[in-house]
Amino acid sequence: MLQKTCRDFADAELVPVAGKIDRERLYPEEQIKKMGELGVMSVAVPEEFGGPGLDYLAYAIAMEEISRGSASAGVIMAVNNLYLGSVMAFGSNEQKHKYVTPYTTGEKIACFQLSEPGNGSDAGAATTTAVDKGDHYVLNGTKAWITNAYQASVAVVFATTDKSLKHKGITAFFVPMDSAGIARGKKEDKMGMGGSSTSQVIFEDVIVPKENILGGLGSGFKIAMKCLDGGRIGIAGQSLGIAQAALELAVDYSQKRIAFGKPISKLQAIQQKIADMALRVESARLLTWRAAWLKDNGKPYTKEASMAKLAASETATYCSHQCIQVLGGMGYVSDMPAERYYRDARVTEIYEGTSEIQRLVIAGQILKEYAA
Ligand SMILES: Cc1cc2nc3c(=O)[nH]c(=O)nc-3n(C[C@H](O)[C@H](O)[C@H](O)COP(=O)(O)OP(=O)(O)OC[C@H]3O[C@@H](n4cnc5c(N)ncnc54)[C@H](O)[C@@H]3O)c2cc1C
Repeated sequence: MLQKTCRDFADAELVPVAGKIDRERLYPEEQIKKMGELGVMSVAVPEEFGGPGLDYLAYAIAMEEISRGSASAGVIMAVNNLYLGSVMAFGSNEQKHKYVTPYTTGEKIACFQLSEPGNGSDAGAATTTAVDKGDHYVLNGTKAWITNAYQASVAVVFATTDKSLKHKGITAFFVPMDSAGIARGKKEDKMGMGGSSTSQVIFEDVIVPKENILGGLGSGFKIAMKCLDGGRIGIAGQSLGIAQAALELAVDYSQKRIAFGKPISKLQAIQQKIADMALRVESARLLTWRAAWLKDNGKPYTKEASMAKLAASETATYCSHQCIQVLGGMGYVSDMPAERYYRDARVTEIYEGTSEIQRLVIAGQILKEYAA
């Protein structure tokens, strides 16, 4: 039912505007509010805190269907859910009421600030500092690549409270985005995902009360890694949505385009592409749903989430690439969405951990399993 609801919503409300919001770099405010009404801005948040109280399998499915309509809307949703996941997993009851409930409806959104200009994959090398001043901390530094930076009212920010402890000296803080001393950098001019804002966030002597610590002093790195495990299921879902859209477009076009007197779908070379696309989509979807099921059932899922994200993101790139090929010249112009799928797909292999980092995680887990 959720899948159908999200698919119908995407067909009616996202597909018609997806090209425009990407091209004109428009934040899809109205659509995000409607997504809030559907419950997809806070899929796994319990009803008590304002969410629909669903699980990560539901989240993966919703991410796929929304991203099939607009990957930009998908990434705005993914980051809001990532933020909410961090508060639900590590916040106190009081923090949940304050920092979860207002961010469930799509009216207000949040961001998750881990990366910096000097460190993305190497997240433990954070140089943003938080200095203890008695009853508050003072934050200084620059965060980079922050999705939703221009619209977010609140952020979870990762900063170093004790440099000598390296990654164990990183702490997570709730920071209202209208705090004195916060500035946003220019909106990044991205290859795709034009409907979502991405920018640096600069902190200059930003005062943060001590009660704004999330999950305890020095727990920031652990929180980031745990949350990214769950987040990767969302990005896998997003990648599947792009891949599925590319597959559907390629199939539809191939049945309509006539070459040498018959639809190109009759050509075995085209059929091979369709078969390979469908095979990869189905395989990546099963990996994604398995990772979500493991998480929902309280089982370890780090390896499976990385496998799902790796397989699905590479599938999105593969399918959108093949889709362009099936469409020929029409794949290369913005009259058709194929070129947008290709541009949107590319970043799914980069954010929430690059493909190289996913392979490191998978290999690390496998080596541990075999050593045991
Ligand atoms: C559009 C967009 C939105 C984003 N949104 C957010 C956000 O909301 N919040 C946030 O915190 N971050 C966000 N990011 C940042 C993103 O997570 C990082 O870009 C990503 O983790 C990679 O870091 P990097 O860009 O610094 O690349 P680097 O870490 O410099 O990597 C460069 C290359 O080196 C490889 N590499 C690095 N280390 C290793 C290693 N140990 N082994 C093998 N290869 C390695 C990488 O795989 C990559 O190919 C976003 C990025 C983009 C592009």
